[in-house]
Amino acid sequence: MKKTLADINFKDKKVLVRADFNVPLVDDVISDDNRIISAIPTIQYLLDHDAKVILLSHLGRIKRSEDLKKYSLKPVAKRLAELLGTEVNFVDEISRVTLQTAINSLENKQVLLMENTRFADLENKRESNNDAILGKYWASLGDVFVNDAFGTAHREHASNVGIATNINESCIGLLVEKELAMLNKAIINPERPVVVILGGAKVSDKIGVIDHLLKVADKIIIGGAMSFTFLKAQEFNIGKSLIEEDKIELAKQYLQKAIGKIILPIDHLMSKEFVDQSGINSTDANIADDYIGMDIGAKTITLFNNYIKEAKTIIWNGPVGVFEMKNFNKGTLAICETIAHLNNVFSIVGGGDSAAAAIQSGFKDKFSYISTGGGASLELLEGKPLPAIEVIQDK
Ligand code: AMP
Repeated sequence: MKKTLADINFKDKKVLVRADFNVPLVDDVISDDNRIISAIPTIQYLLDHDAKVILLSHLGRIKRSEDLKKYSLKPVAKRLAELLGTEVNFVDEISRVTLQTAINSLENKQVLLMENTRFADLENKRESNNDAILGKYWASLGDVFVNDAFGTAHREHASNVGIATNINESCIGLLVEKELAMLNKAIINPERPVVVILGGAKVSDKIGVIDHLLKVADKIIIGGAMSFTFLKAQEFNIGKSLIEEDKIELAKQYLQKAIGKIILPIDHLMSKEFVDQSGINSTDANIADDYIGMDIGAKTITLFNNYIKEAKTIIWNGPVGVFEMKNFNKGTLAICETIAHLNNVFSIVGGGDSAAAAIQSGFKDKFSYISTGGGASLELLEGKPLPAIEVIQDK
């Protein structure tokens, strides 16, 4: 068991908190502050326990110097201060004397947010490549490390693994603790039937999940572009739909290994172009040569919903159609609605697009848990250890 906040005395200590403030930003305006809201309980706990809180996070990808302005954490500091109801001292540095001086002058119950850790990526991707000197330097700025960034827990970066390996005391934060508890509840001794719904663009992203969850799940429902590789493996015509040719053989193997367990679409909403225009419902699982499968069809919605209604545990990752287009969001929204109206079911939504769809559907609060980490939740569901959690001290 990893150490949690309750295992450490934070009074008078400089506490480095790796949070996940990787929020969507356009012209300094945050369009979705869920990740900031999710970080509040840990920060508030530390303030209540007389710590000096030093926050670190990445934001976006930094490839060239023009990205620096676009991905500053300054707007996050402002929103954070509003949510916490306390001042947040933003330091536009990730090293140097200014940062050190600001940290050294922090008092108990004060919060400091330093600039985007990925600014270090401009120089040999030092943050993303877990540069040994950088991790050691950041670790030297504090007494204790709290990892509360679930979204990057599957990555070995200087700001998570680097700090954790170079500091005396470390633990996971409240968000990470909750993410691990919720995701593990769905896969370790879950209540049956377990229904997994997978969608999205690529089979290759989720192949590991299918492999691992075949052992846990009673049914694996596959929609979205992913389904076309499986349908092709069964020799259906898939027209111009998105497909991964090099995964057809693997799809065939899974279908043979799990006879009756993998449920595929039986009809589709199709379009001649990849644009937001009204679609045509196919008559069966085949798609005519010059059409693209854009969403699941009406019969498939009923089929999928019948399995979902029987479930006691639901794990959902990936939209079953091009849900960003209004004409092709029906399948995904129908699934949201069905799950939302179920009683006595434990429902987990993976991060990324399915989380966005759940929120967009207006039924956000009806799910048992919506993960803040797409990639990390997938890796956990694949049964892989998360490096930034593994490195945290045990109790
Ligand atoms: P992922 O990140 O793998 O969960 O993929 C999410 C993306 O899959 C979304 O942007 C969807 O638009 C896309 N997607 C879902 N269904 C389809 C489809 N039938 N054709 C093309 N893209 C799709």
